Parts: sequence; structure tokens; C-alpha cells
Amino acid sequence: MGDRLYLDHAATTPMLPAARDAMAGAWARWANPSSPHAEGRAARAALEDARARIKSALGWSGDLIFTSGATEAIAIALKRTRSDAVLVSAVEHDAVHRAAPKAFFLPVQGDGTVAGHALTGRLGALGASNPLVVIQSANNETGVIQPLAELGAIVRVNKGALFVDASQSAGKMALPEADMIAVSAHKLGGPPGIGALLIGNLGLIDPDGGQEKGYRGGTENLPAALGFAAALESSNAWFKRAEDLRAHLDGAIEASGGQIVARRTPRLATIAAYRMPGMASSAQLIQFDMAGIAVSAGSACSSGTLKPSHVLAAMGWDAGEAAEVIRVSFGPDTSRADVYRFVEQWQRLAREAKARAA
Ligand code: PLP
Repeated sequence: MGDRLYLDHAATTPMLPAARDAMAGAWARWANPSSPHAEGRAARAALEDARARIKSALGWSGDLIFTSGATEAIAIALKRTRSDAVLVSAVEHDAVHRAAPKAFFLPVQGDGTVAGHALTGRLGALGASNPLVVIQSANNETGVIQPLAELGAIVRVNKGALFVDASQSAGKMALPEADMIAVSAHKLGGPPGIGALLIGNLGLIDPDGGQEKGYRGGTENLPAALGFAAALESSNAWFKRAEDLRAHLDGAIEASGGQIVARRTPRLATIAAYRMPGMASSAQLIQFDMAGIAVSAGSACSSGTLKPSHVLAAMGWDAGEAAEVIRVSFGPDTSRADVYRFVEQWQRLAREAKARAA
């Protein structure tokens, strides 16, 4: 595909070499981990080894239920919850909103974070005896990091359980303290099609399924589990460099008349959202693609179509301005030269947009 520059790692990121190698070797382990014969027992041992390695890499000591990705982990946690009320932040991924259509909404502030007093207020108004509160670790459109230490403490005081969608931050930042956490392998250099629900107490959800201690149905994907483990065990030292790259990119975009979404909020170093005044994000995507650069607009990805961002709307953005925002996301191989190349194109498009408006 020529000299392409991929800056859409938040959508999915290429598999790390160690994950590919682990999977290539794993195809020889074709047996069903639930079979009692020797081949099955060997597959079971390999699966349990992968489970233990993933837990250790993530620093999680509770149960780990393998799923097909974060979406399924979210669905299991929310559709089978035993809580008497579910409270969901307004900026959650669509997968959360779809799995809990009757949930109560928790608003965010203009900076994208949930305020402690808002959470306290909503929990008080709900009056539930064991509420489930759903708040992501880092937003997939803006990178905004939620203050989960503070919010988790409020949930505990109110005798609730906290479920965190850590799809974007897992493998990059330490996991938050939570009762349940969703993670996804393809966001951290593992294969697509596998993820996990981390759960401290299985009593929080109803069992269903013939595998995974009765909490999930379907033969486990052993090669993918081994790829997932290998990806998590790969060095993530590159993530520290991303902070620098993002700071440079932020500065260049702002100096060229762009607007940084959630400028002053702590954000995951690999995700940034920028508004280019005067040019629709759909047009920007086409222009960048023609210039060999892959970026995305908001949470555009579900069906390949662009829809207004519920995240920016929840942060109080005007719909017209929100429609001019694109997302840039870094991966392990993103370099300073890549950032320069993106900035050059961004400046060219911004100049054209300005000239058209004049
Ligand atoms: N949650 C967040 C925050 C995401 O960014 C994504 C992926 O786009 C998902 C959930 C869904 O993840 P998966 O593709 O593993 O189902």
C-alpha cells in the first residue's frame, strides 16, 4: 500500500511480533481444552498457562473469563448483573450503551470527566441497595482519563460495584481498582477476537454457558489466548515516548489554529482529538487518506459510517464544531517523523479551509 502512515491504533493496532510468533506456534495445539483425553488436557494446560500469564501481566488476582473481545465482556457484565440498578457514564463506548439500554445516565463535565459530586448525587437519588456503576478508564475518542481512584471510593461508600471498560488503557497503564474490568487484546498488540472479563467476585453476575467456570459458552480460542499473553508480556516502554510525541503534536496543531479536545484534562498519551475549523471530519478523513495517512473521526468505526459523537455532545460541544473533530492515535512504532508528516498535511488542509472561508 505504498508509504502509508497508520495513526488509528485506537481502532485496532497491528499484532506485536511476539504475539504473532506465539500464535504461529499455537496452531499445533488444535485440541479442545474441555476434552478429557491427553490432547485436550495439553490444550487445557496451555490455556490455563495463558490465563495465569495474562493475569500476572495485568496485575489481576481475581477470576478471568475469556471472551471474544471487550464487547462480549461488557455484555456479560451488564446483561447478567445482579445489581438492582445500573449507572453508566455518558461517554462510554457504544458497546456499553447497547448492553445496558435501561441504565441511568451519569453526566460528564466539559473536560470529559465524571465529577465526584455528580456521582454521589446520582447514587443518592437512585437509592439502590447494590448499584453497578460503569465508568471507562480512558475514552476511545478523546483519550480523557477518568479519576477512578476518587470515583471508585464513592462507589464503595455507597455499597455499589464498579465496572471499568479498560479497553484503551490496559497494557499501557496500570489497571484501576475495580470489581469488574473489560479488556481487549487487539487494542494492545494481541490478536482480534479475544478479550476478557476480569471479575473479583463471580457472585456479581449470573452464570450462563458451558465453559469458563459456567460463565461463558463456546470453545476457548487457545491460539488467540497465547497471542494475548505474549502481547501483554512484550515491553510497553514505547508508551512513555508517546507522551512526548503527543505534546509535540498538540503544540503544532494549536499553533496552526486547531483546537485540542479536552486540552487540560489528563489524557491517554496515545489518543488525541483535534478540531480543524472549517473542514468536516469526513472531508478530512478523505484528504488524509489520499495523502497516505489513516486517521479516524470519533467513534466512527461501528459500520464504516460517520455519526455525531455522543462523547463530544456529552461534553457540551456544539454539533457543528464536533463534526470537525478527528482522532489521531499512536502505536509502538509511531515516530517523530510520522508526527511531522501528519502535521504538514494538517497545516495544508487547515490553510485550504481558511482560504475557502475568507
Ligand atoms: N470499549 C472501548 C473503549 C473501545 O475502544 C472498544 C473498541 O473499539 C470496545 C469497547 C470494543 O472492543 P472489542 O473490539 O474488543 O469488542
